[in-house]
Amino acid sequence: MNYIVLIKQVPDIRNIPEEAWDWEKGILKRGLLDNVCNELDKQALAMVLALRNRRDGKIVSLTMGPPFAEDVLRYSLSICADNGVLLTDRKLGGADTAATAYPLAKAILKIEKEIFKGNKEYIIVSGMQSIDGDTAQVPPQIAEELGIPHLAYATSFNYNNGVFQFNRITREGTQTVASLVYPYMVTVTTWTESPNASFSRTRWARNQKLFEWHASDLEMEENRIGLSGSRTTVFRIFSPRDVSTRNCVFETDLAKLLQRIKEFYEHKLEAATKPHKQSEYQMPEGKKTSFQGEVWIFTEQENGGINPASLGLLIKGKELAAQLHEKVGAVLVGKEVKNLATGLFASGANRVYAVEHPLLEEYLPVPYTKAIVELMGQYKPQIMLFSATPLGRELAPRIAYRAKSGLTADCTELDIFDFRRGDREYVATLRQTRPALGGNIMASIMSQNSLVQMSTVRPGVFQYIKPEPGVGGELVEYTPNITSNDIGAIILAAEKKISGTDLNEAAIIVSGGGGCKTKEGFERCIPTLADHLGQFFGQKAMVGASRMAVESGFIDRSHQIGQTGQTVKPRIYLAAGISGAVQHLTGMQNSDVIIAINSDPNARIFKVADFGIIGNIEEVAPKLIKVLESQEE
Ligand code: FAD
Repeated sequence: MNYIVLIKQVPDIRNIPEEAWDWEKGILKRGLLDNVCNELDKQALAMVLALRNRRDGKIVSLTMGPPFAEDVLRYSLSICADNGVLLTDRKLGGADTAATAYPLAKAILKIEKEIFKGNKEYIIVSGMQSIDGDTAQVPPQIAEELGIPHLAYATSFNYNNGVFQFNRITREGTQTVASLVYPYMVTVTTWTESPNASFSRTRWARNQKLFEWHASDLEMEENRIGLSGSRTTVFRIFSPRDVSTRNCVFETDLAKLLQRIKEFYEHKLEAATKPHKQSEYQMPEGKKTSFQGEVWIFTEQENGGINPASLGLLIKGKELAAQLHEKVGAVLVGKEVKNLATGLFASGANRVYAVEHPLLEEYLPVPYTKAIVELMGQYKPQIMLFSATPLGRELAPRIAYRAKSGLTADCTELDIFDFRRGDREYVATLRQTRPALGGNIMASIMSQNSLVQMSTVRPGVFQYIKPEPGVGGELVEYTPNITSNDIGAIILAAEKKISGTDLNEAAIIVSGGGGCKTKEGFERCIPTLADHLGQFFGQKAMVGASRMAVESGFIDRSHQIGQTGQTVKPRIYLAAGISGAVQHLTGMQNSDVIIAINSDPNARIFKVADFGIIGNIEEVAPKLIKVLESQEE
């Protein structure tokens, strides 16, 4: 057994010096930032070391980047790698995820041939995403190029009868999965052991010769690499300061604070009842649009219900389709799913494509990709949107890669626009806007060299509105051509932890995080605060939590909010002792009013909050409860 670990050198965005910002141009000068090993790739190194401790073999680390990226390879050698491969060439620069995945896949095949001497029994391990791009697209796209299974969001593994079984996070809970073939890809999301380099190993690593490969060393099609081979292009970068509407107000007088929150809440409530402002794009007359076809939404279904994030996306899809004078289609995939079509027609779909097959009963990326790309090939949509849920972030990159299309991850805004670059005119194309570099900049992106314009969209950004029962539409039934050879991996066990607590039922959510310190601390402050805030505003209030609170055992995982928990959009969200990590913000930042309590005045949560209280939760919570009680009477 052998191992390849993919690592990346990234700018250190936790520590951005003020002079690195150019607020006029709205750009971040990356050259002024330190370079570090991507945090999740360190966890991948630690996991690969643990895998090798169970089954011996050679570890090769691989990175693509400028010549100075050799530092990250030497770091990997100091942890566990036996060899390091640096793929470096100006021709590879400026690549998007597809044009990055392609040369990396080719380099993996060269490692297989020349270092592993043709032995295909190996596992490729990497971090789920890099902190700079934050797309999580490269690993699944490498897996698609190689035609191999991908086990995403791995947190731990078991070793049984010579086979590794990986435990992974899903939207609903956890799963244990194993690949049926070699090689296969595993992406790590958390691994609690930190990698440690000994003194002597670091000295050894410093003197090792690395493999240095260039584009000409790999068998590649020139038109699939670098900037020109990319399927997406960034055409505008701007500061999130332009779009942020929150400006945190700090207040020490809690009675005064409560009054201001109440006024702000009432103002927001009034604004929320006004009709949603739609984009005013008008199709230019007499011009041919750059893309043609319907607008499609992939609708995630689980346990006989549709994920609300998909329904919100359907509303946006309907708006985009109307501007393009096209139909909006909802794609449903599973064993027997067509009974869900009625609900999708009621939520705006003109057409529902029900892709049914017994082998699609459980979600697995390889057969799902094959089935959906087949459908796309037959009906040729111009836009295909996915929710950026764990499933969407794992599936959409493979589909985009196979469908020869670009993909923009985690968009927070989508609209149609006309654009001219040089002598090329783009008519009625999709502008895909997303936060990048950990939310430090915003980027507007469009598809190029692509058959379909594809994006994943942050859940909860587009609000789900009440369906109109009785509205009909056209049902298209489709049986894909898949066989048991297309399965790739097997689900050995699944545990559902999320069902039962739907936090979207609540108008007020009070969430506790790592700052609560203990289960007792959490229980003393958070539920009581939720009860009293609920009574004060006369609304249903529920308790939420950060992943740290869940993993520390303060509360059950069904209360977790964030990327791998629930996405919520309550009227009021109070975050107590929560730092504001991007994965938590993903799940709550569209709340109407955000209040944060944190002892650290520089905590990131204050950047998205409307109201802030700097202080110890153990002291602030009882005082706030007292003020609430006095106002209730
Ligand atoms: P900490 O990071 O421990 O922060 C605690 C905060 O409390 C700090 O800001 C501190 O200043 C403050 N504090 C400390 N003591 C006190 C006190 N006495 N009074 C007041 N304040 C105090 N996280 C999620 O929440 N949801 C997700 O769905 C999620 N999904 C993830 C998915 C992936 C792929 C990955 C890699 C990570 C994910 N995470 C998620 C984890 C996320 O990155 C953070 O680690 C997590 O959100 C941290 O939780 P926290 O802010 O509560 O804890």
